[in-house]
Amino acid sequence: MRELAIVSGKGGTGKTSIVASFAALAGNAVLADCDVDAADLYLVTDPQIEHRETFHCGREAVIRAPDCTSCGLCQSRCRFDAVRRDEDGTFTIDPTACEGCGVCVWSCPAKAIDFPERISGQWFVSSTRYGPMVHARLNPGAENSGKLVFRVREEARHLADHTGRGLILIDGPPGIGCPAISSISGASLVLAIAEPTPSGKHDLGRVLDLAAHFGLPAAVVVNKFDLNVGLSEGIESDARKRGAAAVGRIAYRHAFTAAQRRGASVVEVESGRAAEEVRKTWQSVQQLLETASPQHRQGRVALRGVLQDAPHRHDEAERPEVEEPPGKSAATTTEEGA
Ligand code: SF4
Ligand code: SF4
Repeated sequence: MRELAIVSGKGGTGKTSIVASFAALAGNAVLADCDVDAADLYLVTDPQIEHRETFHCGREAVIRAPDCTSCGLCQSRCRFDAVRRDEDGTFTIDPTACEGCGVCVWSCPAKAIDFPERISGQWFVSSTRYGPMVHARLNPGAENSGKLVFRVREEARHLADHTGRGLILIDGPPGIGCPAISSISGASLVLAIAEPTPSGKHDLGRVLDLAAHFGLPAAVVVNKFDLNVGLSEGIESDARKRGAAAVGRIAYRHAFTAAQRRGASVVEVESGRAAEEVRKTWQSVQQLLETASPQHRQGRVALRGVLQDAPHRHDEAERPEVEEPPGKSAATTTEEGA
C-alpha cells in the first residue's frame, strides 16, 4: 500500500482541486481528508455518509449544582480562571476556558465535580464517486487536531486493507503544525503544492524541511506557475537543493474555477490544457510512487506513541450531540462510546 500526502505550506494554493483531480485519475484510491480544522474536499467529492463516530479527546470539569456547598475552593485553585461564581452564588465551569487539568476535581471537598470526556468532533466514512473517503470535523475551538488526523488515517488504512485498494490519497492541512505532522507521518511520498509568491516559496521551504526532518521523500508541484515564471523556477531550484523532485507545473486557468462551481474536478469536466497539465503531473507522481517505499511504518508507530502519551481517557459520558457534519445523509449512525 502507498500513501500519498498532498500538503501545502499555506492555504489557497489549489491543493484540494489537485487532490480531487488525482482522486478521479487514480480511480481506485481511498481518500483521507486530514484538514480537520477546515475540511473542504467534501465540496467536490459530494460524500454520502455511511458511518460516523464521535471523537473524544481530553476531559472537562462539570459541577453538579445539588452537591456543591459553594465553598469556592475550586475557583481559587483553578489556574485558568474557568470557574465562575454567578450572581446567585452558584459555581459553574466555563467549558471554553477549562483545560481539563483535573485540579478542581481532586480538590473539591464535596466531590461535586464530574470529569467526563470531552467531545471534540466527529469522523465519518463516506462513499464518493471516486471511492471511499474518511473525513472529520473538529468542533470549534477544540484541540488535539493531530489526534483526529491520526484517527482518520488509521481508518483510511483499515479501509484500504479491507477493500484491496493500494493507494491512500491524503488531503493534508496547510502549515507545519501538529495536524500537518500527523498527516505526513509515515507517508510513502509527500507532495507539496506551492504557488509562485514570496510567501509561497518561504512556506514551501518549511514544509520540505518538515518532510526531511521525518526522512520522507518529497516532491513539488508549482500551481499557477505562469503568474511568475522566474519565481516558479526559483521554487523548483530550491526544492531540488532540498532533495525534492519538481514533478509538475500547472498554469493559472479559469477551468479550475469553472469545475469548482460545478462541484467537480477539472479532469472530469474538461479536456483542455488545464486537465492535460494535471494528467501529466499525475503520471509523474505515479512514477515516483512506484519507486517509493510502501508506508513508513516506523514513522506511524513513533507518531502513535507520541499521540498516546498525551492525556486520554476512555470513560463513557452522556454528552450533547455535535453539529450536523459535512455530507448529505447518514445511512448508518454509530456513536463511539454510546
Ligand atoms: S470546590 Fe466543590 S463544593 Fe466547593 S464550590 Fe467548587 S464544586 Fe462547590
Ligand atoms: S479541570 Fe482544571 S482548568 Fe478545568 S475548571 Fe478544573 S481546575 Fe480549572
